[in-house]
Amino acid sequence: MAPGKPTLIGRTALVTGASSGLGAHFARLLAGEGARVVLAARREDRIAALAAELAGLRLAAQAVAMDVTDPASVAAGLDAVEGRIDILVNNAGIAGGGAALEMAGPDFDAVIDTNLKGVFAVAQAVARRMAATGGGAIVNIASVLGLRVAGQVAAYAASKAAVIHLTRALALEWARHGIRVNALCPGYIETPLNAAFFATAAGQALIRRIPQRRLGRPEDLDAPLLLLCSDGGAYITGAVLAVDGGHLVSSL
Ligand code: NAD
Repeated sequence: MAPGKPTLIGRTALVTGASSGLGAHFARLLAGEGARVVLAARREDRIAALAAELAGLRLAAQAVAMDVTDPASVAAGLDAVEGRIDILVNNAGIAGGGAALEMAGPDFDAVIDTNLKGVFAVAQAVARRMAATGGGAIVNIASVLGLRVAGQVAAYAASKAAVIHLTRALALEWARHGIRVNALCPGYIETPLNAAFFATAAGQALIRRIPQRRLGRPEDLDAPLLLLCSDGGAYITGAVLAVDGGHLVSSL
């Protein structure tokens, strides 16, 4: 973000799946913009370490244990957060890839339980609090795979498509409560977990199909996320924002 006045001073932002990857990145970003961040994830050692890192930078952070697939855990996690929650980044997700013909039912369920039902459970619980305190902004982290398909990711693509439509439905219902709900759809973002794949011939071939001919970096999501979370996006709700280097418009 360009230097200047932080946009989120006085706000509280809850990020699910903040223990690693994009969730940890988003938490650092929002804290740097002045928000008090609530780090919600299952791996308590990781979120405690991130909270300590932020505290060392004089940034406000609280770690709360939360498994988004367990309603009791979601409720207990939110009970531990005092005061209002202004921003929710519904980021927790799992990939669960594999050939559709071979996919076991429980593996399909696990993807839907986390990526769709988990997103709804946290959104609903947080929205109830937002509705009682004057509103807020929810950003669901979907994927370009919710808008187009690829092989070996049927459950994931279906879950993300459902999250995109859920986003629209919740935006419609919750606008009257001052709650905005938007979906951010990253393209392929380079992380330590997938760096080895993208170094292979198959990975390089995939990158050549992206019009901008490069992978996304986590920082490419910063300004789009802040737009959707902050007052700059006050009139944006029900939107689906792809950040993908043009991957969705790749040539047929
Ligand atoms: P990641 O695996 O590093 O992060 C996912 C996080 O979600 C982890 O911290 C994990 O512990 C957490 N999580 C999983 N199940 C959970 C549960 N039941 N309860 C609480 N937390 C849980 O992956 P990532 O790449 O950082 O992905 C973050 C989000 O971004 C996901 O929703 C993913 O689908 C989405 N996304 C990622 C990319 C990419 O290229 N990295 C692209 C598009 C979308």
